[in-house]
Amino acid sequence: MDRVVFDYIPVKFDIEDVMQQMRIRPNSSFSEVFSEALNIAEQHLRCKAVLKWVNVDQVRDNVTTIDGVSFTSKVMADNLKEIKKVFLCVMTVGAEIDDCQELSDNALRDMIKGVALGYVHKFVFDYITDKFGYRDLAMMTPGSLPDWPIVNNKDLFAMIDNVAEDIGVSLNEHYYMLPYNSVSGIIFSSSTGYVNCKLCKNLDCIGRHAPFDQAEYDRIFA
Ligand code: SF4
Repeated sequence: MDRVVFDYIPVKFDIEDVMQQMRIRPNSSFSEVFSEALNIAEQHLRCKAVLKWVNVDQVRDNVTTIDGVSFTSKVMADNLKEIKKVFLCVMTVGAEIDDCQELSDNALRDMIKGVALGYVHKFVFDYITDKFGYRDLAMMTPGSLPDWPIVNNKDLFAMIDNVAEDIGVSLNEHYYMLPYNSVSGIIFSSSTGYVNCKLCKNLDCIGRHAPFDQAEYDRIFA
C-alpha cells in the first residue's frame, strides 16, 4: 500500500502555545474569547489528510519526473536532485467549522483554521518520520512560488487520486482548493532546511516563516 487516508485527525490545542504563536497578550479580554473559541473549535473541527509515497524517477535540468509525471521547476529540481522518495499530500481542516453556530465570527474562525492547519501539518510530518524514518522534512506547494504555479495542482491531484472522495477537497476552475483551508504539495527530506518563504518576494506577507534569502534566490534563479 503506497497511500494512506487520515479521515479524522483530532486536534487538541496547546492554548498557551497558540497564544504565543498568534501574539495574543495573556490575560487580555481577547485571550479569554480566543481561548474559549479554541475549546469550541476542537469539538467541531474535522481535519483530514491523504498521503501517497512515490519515487522520483529522474531530475534532468529543470524537469523532475515523479512517478511518471514531469514537472518543470528550477526549485523542485534543486530540491529533489538527490532524493529518491517523496510524499504527495493534501491536508485540510474541513468545512465543518464554518457551520458551527457557536463560532459566528468569521475572523475568529479564520484564525482558528490557520492554527489548526499547522497542527495537521505536524501530524502528517510526524507520521512520515515515525513510519519512514525521514527527518528534516520540507514541503513544496503549488502556487507558493511563480516557479511552480498553482496549475500544478491538477497533476498533483491526479497523481494522488480520489482526493475529493477521500477527504472532501476539490479544485475549482483556477486550480485553487476548496475548502480554502487546505494545503497540497510534495513533502521531502531536506538537508538544507528548505522553506518556500526564503525564495518568496512577497516581502509584506504576515505569514512569512523565514526571511527572504537573496543569495539562495540568485543561486537557483540566476
Ligand atoms: S512569504 Fe508568505 S506568501 Fe510567500 S511563501 Fe511564505 S507564507 Fe507564502
